[in-house]
Amino acid sequence: MRKSVINLGGTTGQLASSHLITTCATIAALILFVAVGARVLPSAIGLAEAGQPALAVAFLLNIAIILFGWRRASELRTTLSALKVAEQEALDNAYTDHITGLANRRALLRELERHCRDASGKGALILLDLDHFKKVNDLYGHGAGDELLRLVGDTISAEISSSSFAARIGGDEFAAIVPHASLAEEAAQKVVAALARPLPVAATTAQISASAGIARIDRNLPPADLLRRADVAMYSVKRAGRNGLAWFDGEMERQLHDRVALEEEIRLAIEADEFVPYFQPLISLDTGELNGFEVLARWRSPTRGLVEPVEFIGIAEQSGQIAALSMRVMEKAFIEAREWPSELKLAVNISPIQFRDPQLAERIVKTLTETGFPARRLEVEITESSLMEDRAQALTIVQSLRNNGITIALDDFGTGYASLSQLHALPFDRIKIDKTFINALGDNEQGAAIVETITALGKSLKVPITAEGVETGAIREQLAALGCSDAQGWYFGKAVAGHVASMKFTRQPDVEEPPVDRDHRAAGKKW
Ligand code: C2E
Ligand code: CA
Ligand code: CA
Repeated sequence: MRKSVINLGGTTGQLASSHLITTCATIAALILFVAVGARVLPSAIGLAEAGQPALAVAFLLNIAIILFGWRRASELRTTLSALKVAEQEALDNAYTDHITGLANRRALLRELERHCRDASGKGALILLDLDHFKKVNDLYGHGAGDELLRLVGDTISAEISSSSFAARIGGDEFAAIVPHASLAEEAAQKVVAALARPLPVAATTAQISASAGIARIDRNLPPADLLRRADVAMYSVKRAGRNGLAWFDGEMERQLHDRVALEEEIRLAIEADEFVPYFQPLISLDTGELNGFEVLARWRSPTRGLVEPVEFIGIAEQSGQIAALSMRVMEKAFIEAREWPSELKLAVNISPIQFRDPQLAERIVKTLTETGFPARRLEVEITESSLMEDRAQALTIVQSLRNNGITIALDDFGTGYASLSQLHALPFDRIKIDKTFINALGDNEQGAAIVETITALGKSLKVPITAEGVETGAIREQLAALGCSDAQGWYFGKAVAGHVASMKFTRQPDVEEPPVDRDHRAAGKKW
């Protein structure tokens, strides 16, 4: 693996020239000494004896200057080499990943640029992302996570040729530049195979795998675009089930193009205010009453029709637009619902990406103030992944929201990695069981056992549990028997526009309700 090139900075350069001057001056004094000394030496002693001390003093002074110069030059030499070492270290630090000792993202981009400029474009870029790395971090701690990253770094170094360039460019993302594209696939295959085997970590073995995307180096392509191509190829592997590799190809190119176009369309749609809130009823299983609504975004597109979140939330998250989108939908929901009966709450979804913003709590409170929606009527739904990235910041945000009277629900419980034991330490006012577990209720006993465990947990923590995705009356009954306090799902009602949702409590006889509500509502019950 190649090392970075030495680059002398200002201080070292100045010291180097002082060193040169001192050395030259000393040598000049030495020459003078030899030249003059040869003639003067024999008589110098005699001169001093003959009463001409001045010449003798000058002679001795010359010797002193030589000695001083010599010492100074060697001191400067020592300082200079220490500085060079420090400078090299600083340079290495700026381009080195500290955990694995490989190059970092900055070094990779620099190397890619150099490669695109100098080489004939024969090489390829491999991008490698670990699958299930989070699990190791969560199960065995960050120390074990770092140990695993080092092991992966060593594996990559061992499996790719010495003329290749390896880097760790993000959390669990690695990259390699292979000088010949023909060797890239074999190299990636070896790394993927090596990482699919159980790895020794934290006195145990961890089972992870890796997904690799390969993109051919193209001289006309900026390094950032090349990385994007490898990234697209890598994601195609993830989608296909992980633990494999793929080349970036023409079909992906088209997908990438469509993707960029959709990102732009979403940006324009936010500007044009096309994202609107829909409202899904939240029901108390104890009383059968309506507690409020979950706000779910819909894209009312003039060209695409009514678009569901699965089509745009992920893309809005990845393209940095989710905060604008979510906040606008939230604001509109507050305005629509502020005149609704004051006991009805609204639950809004906040993406993990939004938790990167330290001002998130302030922004939500500001929106409440501006719209006149009371904080006590708001519940914020967050997922476990919101607490993964920067736990301290996420908890500060959550605390700040609670201080303002807003309640917090843990959404999609069971799908993430939060350990049950950790749950009591976190400030949640509600837990929502993910719909996959609720659907499993009807299928098998295991499903019932999971829901029963979570419900019991909620009771012991004195936290209400909402079951999501209730589609039938039978499941509703089963949940009530298990002691689940609240529910939501198509059985009670799908998400609908605000004016339709408001019929759920005003019951205007002249407006037709969506058929699903009529069909699924059990006779004789409020819901
Ligand atoms: P979620 O928070 O888990 O929301 C519940 C999803 O389950 C909704 O999908 C809802 O329509 C669906 N659902 C409700 N009842 C049933 C049922 O009985 N059966 C089935 N099969 N599904 C049911 P939707 O509206 O497509 O939303 C998907 C996800 O998009 C939401 O999942 C939420 O994570 C996200 N999302 C929606 N709106 C926003 C938003 O404004 N901001 C953010 N950040 N995320 C949003
Ligand atoms: Ca939710
Ligand atoms: Ca959910």
